[in-house]
Amino acid sequence: MSEHDCLFCKIVNGDLGADIVYENESLIAFRDINPIAPTHILLIPRRHVATMNDLQDGDASLVGELFLTAARIAANEGLAEDGYRVVMNCNEAAGQSVFHIHLHLMGGRAMTWPPG
Ligand code: AMP
Repeated sequence: MSEHDCLFCKIVNGDLGADIVYENESLIAFRDINPIAPTHILLIPRRHVATMNDLQDGDASLVGELFLTAARIAANEGLAEDGYRVVMNCNEAAGQSVFHIHLHLMGGRAMTWPPG
């Protein structure tokens, strides 16, 4: 799928609405439309990157910013002390369904391990 028909690029471009909790020049964080935890937020880069496999060496700071921002949002959402989970699925076997990388931030309930 190209960025022209990418669902999350539509959110970046403002063509599709989202419940945005934070944004800056490089990323956007918004609430998942089908939450699997009381708090379920997705963090995406503004730039279209289809999967983790497409990340380049120069994307190290972008990936770091996704994680640091997730930690800050988790704190703002009151999740830091109890704990939370961040996940990035890569390709079909891992359950990726939207091919624009996104970090899931989930919290507000106890979670099991290993995941399914
Ligand atoms: P994944 O299966 O890891 O690719 O995760 C994709 C996530 O995107 C799922 O949790 C969906 O519920 C979520 N999602 C799909 N469309 C939207 C949307 N328009 N707004 C917010 N979240 C969405």
